Amino acid sequence: MSERDVRTRRAYSAQKVTDLGDGVWSVPVPIPGNPLGYTLVYAVESPTGPVLIDAGWNHPEAFQALESGLGQAGISLADVRGVVVTHYHPDHAGLAGQVREASGGWIAMHEADAEMVRMFHDMAASDDRPRMQTDMLRRAGASPEELPAAIMDAPTPPAIPDVHLADGALVDVPGRRLRTVWTPGHSPGHICLHLEDGDRVFTGDHVLPGITPHIGMYPYDRTDIDPLSEFLTSLDKIATFGPLEALPAHEWTFSDVAARAGEIAEHHEEKLTKLLASMTEADRPLTIWTAASLMTWNRRWEDLAPMLRGMAAGEAAAHLRTLEVRGLVRRTGGDPVTFVVHS
Ligand SMILES: [Zn+2]
Repeated sequence: MSERDVRTRRAYSAQKVTDLGDGVWSVPVPIPGNPLGYTLVYAVESPTGPVLIDAGWNHPEAFQALESGLGQAGISLADVRGVVVTHYHPDHAGLAGQVREASGGWIAMHEADAEMVRMFHDMAASDDRPRMQTDMLRRAGASPEELPAAIMDAPTPPAIPDVHLADGALVDVPGRRLRTVWTPGHSPGHICLHLEDGDRVFTGDHVLPGITPHIGMYPYDRTDIDPLSEFLTSLDKIATFGPLEALPAHEWTFSDVAARAGEIAEHHEEKLTKLLASMTEADRPLTIWTAASLMTWNRRWEDLAPMLRGMAAGEAAAHLRTLEVRGLVRRTGGDPVTFVVHS
């Protein structure tokens, strides 16, 4: 496929509600103003009402698309039994609260992401956020001029879930077997869902066919977590499903989840190798910001808007942390934090 074909294929206008067989439907829900285009919401039918996997972005246009898309599948919002959210991000969990209101159903999420949601509710209630972000960016080596524009708006936190799903738990869908597969990395509580009675796996953002999910670490200078290593372990975990059909939350469905998981793992290993090589070449302590500027992004570093630089720094931080855990780099300074290749 050419670049252009891929772009056309990714356009929301090119998507339609699809009957995937075995009582599974996919409903594209737009993400207005976002290059990602749309979230694929899946409906799994059951004798006690359909269960949705993800709900889409909280926006009137998206809600309308969800309601009318489900209508095309013969599903009324009022009959929805519950929403399983693959992770707390707004393009997945955003509309879950409205679906719950319309249906009286439950919202289920992994406990680690439920904790994130509670934290966002607490944060929304305090006005500490800009100061915390400024601090985080400064410690990462952002220049004073970049700081104001790099601060991200606080998104409206998603609805607090009713049900916490642990790894391996069956989701409450009588008549079907939908099992939780905990795949932390893109978020601490990201889950995939294995439909055992249809032999398919819903992959959320964990495994996407054409793009790779953002793996970042926030605040940037943490030493208590290693999201990229967790993500790589989660890719190995999903690869045990072999050539199973994958139903992702963006782009399109694809076969052989294991093959794609392998490609994504390789992509990050290459990124780690390249980052280590450029740090070796630089031969001096580097801030997270400078390390990010040496990595390859979809645009030149100079052309990245400050907010995108902030996300790139999050991704750089995750890669630096993995190199540190592997004993290949070490931190040398605290404020701003710097890293140097381990000699
Ligand atoms: Zn997403």
